[in-house]
Amino acid sequence: MTTTSPPIIDGHNDTLTFIFSDNGGGVSSFIDGTEEGHIDLPRARRGGLAAGFFAVFIRERPTGETPPLPDGPDRSERGHWTFTPPPIEYAWAAEETDRLLADFDVLLSSSPEAVRLIRSTDDLAASLCDDRLGIILHIEGCEMISPDLHELIPLYERGLRSLGPVWSRPNCFGTGIRFGWPSSNDVGPGLTPAGRNLIAACNETGIMVDLSHLNFRGFMDVASISDKPLVATHCGCHAIAESARNLTDDQLGVIADSGGLVGCNFFTGDLRGDGEFGADMPLSRMAEHIEHMVDIMGDAHIALGSDFDGADMCEEMRDVSCLPNLIKLLRDRGWREESLRRLCSDNWLRVLRETWQL
Ligand SMILES: [Zn+2]
Repeated sequence: MTTTSPPIIDGHNDTLTFIFSDNGGGVSSFIDGTEEGHIDLPRARRGGLAAGFFAVFIRERPTGETPPLPDGPDRSERGHWTFTPPPIEYAWAAEETDRLLADFDVLLSSSPEAVRLIRSTDDLAASLCDDRLGIILHIEGCEMISPDLHELIPLYERGLRSLGPVWSRPNCFGTGIRFGWPSSNDVGPGLTPAGRNLIAACNETGIMVDLSHLNFRGFMDVASISDKPLVATHCGCHAIAESARNLTDDQLGVIADSGGLVGCNFFTGDLRGDGEFGADMPLSRMAEHIEHMVDIMGDAHIALGSDFDGADMCEEMRDVSCLPNLIKLLRDRGWREESLRRLCSDNWLRVLRETWQL
């Protein structure tokens, strides 16, 4: 790694779902590089990405009718819109998870010199020092887990170290905040009894719980149940942009009080503040969200959570190779090196050590 950019642990991407989709190119394009998507190995190395949370995210069963991502929101008067993705059935989620994890196993076994499955913070520390990209296996939306949680331990044994109970849809564990602009995140009920059991089981097993995509009541339920630092891997600030997915200052305070962290999302739709998704957003907008988080929580509770390969990026952050642009910008805005290291990796190491106990 060069001194121009500290090695980065990134809180969220949808790269596995993308590369193992029909359009994605699979293992070889990831290892050798491609112009598609946001992350592949050559671009990750250029950008200083040392490790990241790679999500198993299940798209809707293709029907030819429903878009997989909210690129067609129902707009009403004055630009207000909401978008509620439909629920996903267990059988489809389980089938897709098996397929993605089988493909993921091929990636790991075919390229041991290039990638490393992160099972412990020692593994993570190693990826901060060498050229093997660290992959933290995460599940975004637990539709493949039954209310009795019998899938959880087998998934942990395969390497799962993090999960978000819900994506932006309801499931048997809780209610994800539907997309909306402008919108409060206090929409819908909190965790179900199975959802409460899931949080306790994650604490006990050593699986991090991700608050991203949970609605307000679910967020507060996790805060009351969990005895680990609270984490939202990819969110922005509601005080700056009134997206339903963003966290209020009160929520940021709850996370900081727990010793946890928030990974600042790069998704233009959550950062811009005008309800649009366009790439013509200055990178300084991202800095404003990060600096607001610092104002509310301090620099011990901030991180990065790109949402690469799952969301629209601005031109100056068009893929992972552009990460040094953000570091340079923050230096230009007066950030000290110690704060940058906390943002890039130190806070993750602290929180994951406490959460995984490994
Ligand atoms: Zn997400």
